[in-house]
Amino acid sequence: MSFQNPVFIPGPTNIPESLRKACDMPTIDHRSPLFGSILHPAREGVRKVLKSESAKVFIFPSTGTGGWETALTNTLSAGDKILAARNGMFSHRWIDMCERHGLDVNIVETPWGHGIPADKYAEILKADTGHDIKAVLATHNETATGVKSDIAAVRKALNDAGHPAMLFVDGVSSIGSMDFQFDNWGVDVAVTGSQKGFMLSAGLAIVGFSDKAMAATETATLPRTFFDVHDMVKGYAANAFPYTPPVGLMNGLNEACKMLLSEGLDNVFARHHRIAQGVRNAVDAWGLELCATSPDVYSDTVSAIKTPEGFNATDIVTHAAETYGVAFGVGLGEVAGKVFRIGHLGSLTDVMTLSGLATAEMCMADLGLDIKLGSGVAAAQEFYRANPALNYKEAA
Ligand SMILES: *Cc1c(COP(=O)(O)O)cnc(C)c1O
Repeated sequence: MSFQNPVFIPGPTNIPESLRKACDMPTIDHRSPLFGSILHPAREGVRKVLKSESAKVFIFPSTGTGGWETALTNTLSAGDKILAARNGMFSHRWIDMCERHGLDVNIVETPWGHGIPADKYAEILKADTGHDIKAVLATHNETATGVKSDIAAVRKALNDAGHPAMLFVDGVSSIGSMDFQFDNWGVDVAVTGSQKGFMLSAGLAIVGFSDKAMAATETATLPRTFFDVHDMVKGYAANAFPYTPPVGLMNGLNEACKMLLSEGLDNVFARHHRIAQGVRNAVDAWGLELCATSPDVYSDTVSAIKTPEGFNATDIVTHAAETYGVAFGVGLGEVAGKVFRIGHLGSLTDVMTLSGLATAEMCMADLGLDIKLGSGVAAAQEFYRANPALNYKEAA
């Protein structure tokens, strides 16, 4: 693997030079106002990226998976009923975590490649007149299949049923890259990590809690220690953590938020959409199809691309690594061997994306697929030419 080539996995993503530098810090006292000058702006930055006025943001030395656990253990008790759709590997893993914690999950089995069926959620919520369901889980962007779900529709299902369940959203591969509206969607817990939209290395679980979720922490009885948000609240009040914080990464997070907010969130989302559309046009030109079944669920952060029957898609990923020193994502779970994934989130330009598409073409041609070299690249080039990212002359 080359250290020079960009990666095209859907996280960890490419780290901009400025963020690498921000993470590279001398040791400071992590119980001091100096630490507070990193901690508090980082939490404020995340809150803005979540599009929330009042979410309580907590940052743990962990990953997105620890964020899931933070959401569950702080707000729920053993035996609580949960509603969740399983439409890919990440929603599957979150459900598995619920079950390991003794939660009672009503699983809505959903074909991989489809989004969350909000109509099924609506039916189930309406039928739950005793309000036994305590939380509804939604994976905003299924990274395994390249499928985005309509979180506003899930909120509407809750509202139409007059149901008080909390709404927990996994935004690990969407927050900071695709539009995420904590307040407008009535999200109660949002979960993400440092290594996707925030363009840092892995190491932070980042969560936002609504007032309702904070109230639930008062009665929830699932065991929690490391991920206890009450300990965080106490620590933060003293410019500190309940344990030793990863200060460099948090400084990186603070800078990452500044980068995203100064570009403007809507510009960030438009940039991801443009880059993704170029990739989708390339896939089309190759004569291949996405795992995502319809345009309304196409993800702007990752494309899972189906390869022809009888071909092992994982060979593309292995070959790219071994021959060209470039990383693509393998298929996971049900779609293992059937798709390969191009991650197109975080710090990425048209030029970088074109190099990834060119590499994918070389790999597919090397492995005997009927792909004309340059076909996908040309389709993306045409799209990027017609829709320039930015006028560099004016921007200067
Ligand atoms: C990456 C990812 C996770 C897991 O995050 P880790 O940081 O690897 O623990 C969870 N959900 C989604 C949607 C993801 O893309």
